[in-house]
Amino acid sequence: MSLKEHYQSTLLGCAIGDALGMPVEGMKPQQIKKYVGWITDFIDPVIVRDPQGNALTQDEFGKLKYWNKDFQRGEYTDDTILSVALAESLIACRGFNLEDIARRQVAEYTKRLQPDGTVFGGFGKTTIDGFKNLLTGKSPYESGVIGGPGNAPAMKMAPLGLWMHATMTIERGLHFAHLVGNITHRDPRSLASGVVQAYAISSLLEGIDRSSFLRKIPSLCTSVEQETPADYPLADRGTLVECLEWISENRDASADEAHRHLKSNSLVFCSYPFALFMFQKYWDEPVKGLIETVNYGGDCDTTGAMFGALTGARHGLCWPQHWVENVQDSARLQELGEQLYNFNASSPRK
Ligand SMILES: [Mg+2]
Repeated sequence: MSLKEHYQSTLLGCAIGDALGMPVEGMKPQQIKKYVGWITDFIDPVIVRDPQGNALTQDEFGKLKYWNKDFQRGEYTDDTILSVALAESLIACRGFNLEDIARRQVAEYTKRLQPDGTVFGGFGKTTIDGFKNLLTGKSPYESGVIGGPGNAPAMKMAPLGLWMHATMTIERGLHFAHLVGNITHRDPRSLASGVVQAYAISSLLEGIDRSSFLRKIPSLCTSVEQETPADYPLADRGTLVECLEWISENRDASADEAHRHLKSNSLVFCSYPFALFMFQKYWDEPVKGLIETVNYGGDCDTTGAMFGALTGARHGLCWPQHWVENVQDSARLQELGEQLYNFNASSPRK
């Protein structure tokens, strides 16, 4: 398989994982089991209704929220929307331009604003607060806020990993990943997740083996994850690097054990390490691993998107053909992957 197909599949994988998880985002695994059974394909958003037809907001397992109720099967959410904006900026600017990235990402947000003030797309609160700062004129160096701490830097970073690999701009690329995360997020754990994901994509394209991957990601994380100030939300919940070290030390643990330990909610030290754990566990069975990851629920459009991008980088076009055909914007995503790949030939090696 050609390297170009790995680039294309990285963006396709982000969208495929995103679209697989979208219909059940926020559900617990027991709720997915009860209302869907087992997700293996794109479906419409799952709305649970009582006999009168009203949407249930609670069941015996907990709350039911319908973040993505207005999407249709095969459509992707904010994870891929913002990844596409980043890819388009890198291509249009023929390299890194933070102002342009911020402008394009915030434009994706504003064009989805609804008359009632809500926004269509599944954007998280910290991301929205950062975008609001941009809209009031703050620079993208100062727009980020202390929130969540969420996983958004990691979920949208795959195109930068592709660009880093194509241009061999690794060290500067890691700095750029920090800046992209910082457009919306200031928590050091969130910022570290974006840097680690950019590195992960780039190193998988380079053909890194599983042991080296597991050794490298905690050491990189340590070098970028500063101490979280004590007054930041959930500062007492620990660091991202602790979770990545847990993965290294428990690489063959069962998926259940990993999910019990890491969890899959939208906090950056839950969903991101869970996606990484599943990716390395299913190192040679990516489709099975992605399906299993999504069926653990939680922030599963995002665990799916992160897993899918990593898988595309490592395995290339490994997806079932009907996923490739039916995911939103399939041809466009492949075109963007090809254009990023073309930096390989046209960029001076740095
Ligand atoms: Mg999403």
